[in-house]
Amino acid sequence: MNLKRKLLPFLYIFLFPVIVLAQTSKGTAFKLVPLGVLGGIDESNLSAYMLAPAGSNNYICLDAGTVHYGIEKAVANKTFNVPASTVLRQYIKGYFISHSHLDHIAGLIINSPEDSTKNIYALNDCIETVKTHYFTWKSWANFADQGETPALKKYHYKVLEPGTETAIENTELKVQAFPLSHSNLTSTAFLVNSNDNYLLYLGDTGPDEIEKSNNLQNLWQAVAQLVKGKKLKAILIEVSFPNEQPDKTLFGHLTPKWLMTEMDKLATITGADAVKGLNIVVTHLKPPVTSISKIKTQLKAANKLQLNLIYPQQGKALNF
Ligand SMILES: [Zn+2]
Ligand SMILES: [Zn+2]
Repeated sequence: MNLKRKLLPFLYIFLFPVIVLAQTSKGTAFKLVPLGVLGGIDESNLSAYMLAPAGSNNYICLDAGTVHYGIEKAVANKTFNVPASTVLRQYIKGYFISHSHLDHIAGLIINSPEDSTKNIYALNDCIETVKTHYFTWKSWANFADQGETPALKKYHYKVLEPGTETAIENTELKVQAFPLSHSNLTSTAFLVNSNDNYLLYLGDTGPDEIEKSNNLQNLWQAVAQLVKGKKLKAILIEVSFPNEQPDKTLFGHLTPKWLMTEMDKLATITGADAVKGLNIVVTHLKPPVTSISKIKTQLKAANKLQLNLIYPQQGKALNF
């Protein structure tokens, strides 16, 4: 028996922890903490998702419909073991607002007196509405650094240019914004890059066919290579209504049928194998409970692509 063969078992024993560690770090790139998951009417549970690289507390907050109540829930669930005020002031390094509807920003506004200095990132349209409609002295107080005087300068507006990847201050993350069509508004998809692992968050959006748009098609084109390369760890996308909702009253939202139509388009580009098992986090389900259970049943029945459908829960961390 040669020396090499003798050493092999020992080598494996020594390397075992390294191999296991490498696999865990490979398997987990992001920690996602949902602060709010519904698409209405419950003001204590509206779209907001904290996201950080695995093992880091440098989070960004993707939309900010519900902030305080979601953090409280996460603390109660031991998702965070620091006080809620520390999560708000120190863990959240910046906000990414997909569009200016109140169910995506009310939590940020209401929490602003208690918050620390940070950036608000969004496309220009959204920033303009926040500047001229919310952080004004008639709606609230101007906690931002532009707009009506006096400006309290707690928040700094950062306009994102579509198609340009931006490094996010005080985090290890980079983000690229893509416009989405949401009835009369431009909404946004944020592609978050952590060390060449990616997560895609979509704000409210209607299907291309109904919105007379190419925005989703362009987005699928842009992420196709990442899906093929297994670098896209999850897609957060809305399904607001069950299939019974008529197309003419979708108001820029998706149903199970329309989500699967869009997923088929992605699969057409990547091949069906590449999307099999892809993590799809279903967001923005609109109450009542009967509608929500219909949405879940309809998605399950239509899941020919074998996507991994995930329903986030407020305050419960998900790892991708
Ligand atoms: Zn919404
Ligand atoms: Zn909306």
